[in-house]
Order: sequence, then structure tokens, then C-alpha cells
Amino acid sequence: MIYLDYTANTPADPVVLDAFIAAEQRYIANPNSTHIAGQQARAEMDRVTSSIAQHLGVQPAEIIYTSGASEANNLAVKGIAQAARHIGKHIISTELEHSSVGASLSVLQQQEYEIDLLRIGRDGRVDLDQLRELLRDDTILVAVCAVDSELGTVQPIREIAELVKLYPGCRLHVDATQAVGKTDLWLDGVDTMSFTAHKFYGLNGIGALYKRRGLVITPQISGGASTTIYRSGTPTLGLAVSLDAALTRALDAQAARTAQVRLLHDRLVAALRRYSLVRINSPETAVPHIINVSVTGIKGTRFQQALSEQGVCVSVKSACSSDGMPSKAVFAVSRDRRNALSSWRISISHLTTEEEIEGFLQAFDTCYKTLTNKEN
Ligand code: PLP
Repeated sequence: MIYLDYTANTPADPVVLDAFIAAEQRYIANPNSTHIAGQQARAEMDRVTSSIAQHLGVQPAEIIYTSGASEANNLAVKGIAQAARHIGKHIISTELEHSSVGASLSVLQQQEYEIDLLRIGRDGRVDLDQLRELLRDDTILVAVCAVDSELGTVQPIREIAELVKLYPGCRLHVDATQAVGKTDLWLDGVDTMSFTAHKFYGLNGIGALYKRRGLVITPQISGGASTTIYRSGTPTLGLAVSLDAALTRALDAQAARTAQVRLLHDRLVAALRRYSLVRINSPETAVPHIINVSVTGIKGTRFQQALSEQGVCVSVKSACSSDGMPSKAVFAVSRDRRNALSSWRISISHLTTEEEIEGFLQAFDTCYKTLTNKEN
């Protein structure tokens, strides 16, 4: 099997697994218990939270643990909107967002919030002029992903933050799920930022929301004590330890891993471009880990299935929305519905080998020739 779907999920790093198991074995108490075992668990919880905060250059009190990025996005988007109702009900976002942002916005829309979506240019980036025009005094939230999961486009968060700063009642939420470990994070002017460990070789079931100190949001879970009033539930110490271990490795190794992925990316893209019906949808400026491709005239789902039969795992749209609809992100960059329907995604990692790239190219060649009846 050749796994090229690292954007959907990464395998857990053995170091992360070891850190999780060691913490689970060592600390048996609830960190909120006041007895000695609870105090020890609390001390460890505080230590890892400080470490995570330090990696991000923020304060420990600004970290809210969640079950993953979907929950963190729900908490940020709904929590900000509900807490800022008295200021306004206008929200700006994009078509590139993960469904946990998009669906949260739909829920808010039913509660009479007004949602505007930013246009995406041919380069995959949001239109900053349009953002400038749309921002108004009753805009309470701008929600933009740092890197989208389908194309890998890196959004200009710094510039967006500059514009949002001009509106004191407006908050900026950044979904950094696909950015951590792939590209540098920008936090100045960002009010909330979500991420999840299973995208950077951590465990499934743990993510976090950075929430700027002093910002009030409405919690989405009622009852139960935690490390924060913003998300209840017994603190998940072992998972928090594993998140710290995964984040430490992802950030320390980011430059070296990305350089390695870039080499594989360039080789892959050069080989794919030799086929006349291949279109690379990811913009030049995208992170090298994500390569969105179309083979003209062949539905993405069909190509993906054909590759799967050859033992190659790639994905169509995001793993979370396999509804057979054309990709909005690919439509945005190509303005071509049929091309969007033909698109699928290869995602590579520093764990991807030269042999796997070679194996993928052979499988691709077979599928291409069979499905298109063309030689190249
Ligand atoms: N945001 C983005 C950009 C994603 O790619 C994903 C997962 O694919 C999520 C959020 C959801 O993350 P989780 O699976 O941790 O809920």
C-alpha cells in the first residue's frame, strides 16, 4: 500500500505514543482533585500547557484543550458570535473553510447572523480588497483558515489581521489545522486559532484553541470543571502530554521536513505535468505537502477508486465531505466546474519515500492510460 493522504490523518509518532503511555501510567488522578495524586497530575498538566504555550509564543491561560479542530472551530466561531451579539451579527469568512467552520456559520445564519464569503483569486488567496470593502462597524468575526486542506493555499493572515485591527469590535479566528508543522504561524492580531494533533503525527482526539487573553467567548459545553471555564470536561492529561510531544517535534523539525517534502513535491509535479490531460490545481505558493490534481474528463472519485485498486491512497475533496459535489476550492481557482469535479488530492509527508513516489507514478500511469485511452 502507498499512503498519500497525510492531510487527512498522519500516523502517530512513536515518541508521541510513548509520552502518552508514560503519562497515563504515571498519573492516575483527575488534575482537578485536591488530594496529593490530583496535585501531581495538576502540576504535570500545568507543565505541558506552559510548554505548548511557549512553542506558540502565547500564555498558558490562552490554551483551551478540545477534542480536535472541529470542536475548536465550533467553539471559536459560535462562541465569539454569541458573545458579541450586542455589537453586531455580521461575519466574514471564505469558501475554503473546513465544514466545522462552514457548518457553524450555517447554524449562525439560521439565528439571523449575516454571513459574507470572500472571493478566492486564481492564486487561491482571499481577496483583500473585498475584505476591506466588506468590513463594517457591526462585523464581529472574520474566520479564515491559515492553509486550506484541499489546495494547500497559504492565506495572508498577517495582512488580514492588519485590516481586522481597524475594527475594534471585530475578532479574527484562524483555523491553523493544516498549517502547524508545515508553515510558520502568525498570531499577532489573531484572537483565536485552532489546531489538532492528528495532522502533525500526534494522537486523534486532542486539539486546542488558542484564545487571546481577555477575550470573552460563550462556552459550548455546559457543566463540569476543567482547566478553563471555556471548555468543560475532566482535563485529558495523557492527551495533553501527547499534544506537547507532537507539537515539539513538528515545530523543531518543520524546516528540515518541509525541505524534504519540497523535493518530493517537485519531482511528483514535474512527472505529472508530462501528461497532457493533467492539471495541477494547487497554486505555486501552496505548501508542498498538498498537491491537488485533475485529469480532464475523469471524475475525481473515479480516478481515486482506480488508484485505490492499485493500492494507492489519495483523497477526493476532504475526507470529511465525500458528497460527490464539485470542490468549491478548486472551482474558485479554476472557475471550471468540470475541472472541480475531476479534482483529487495527493498529500505527502517527510515519511514518504522515493520508492513510494515511483510506485505512485507507475500506478498513476496505468490508471491514466486505462481511463483516458491516451498514452500521455
Ligand atoms: N480544519 C481543517 C482545515 C481540517 O483539514 C480538518 C480536518 O481535516 C479540521 C479542521 C477538523 O479537524 P479534526 O479532525 O481534528 O476535528
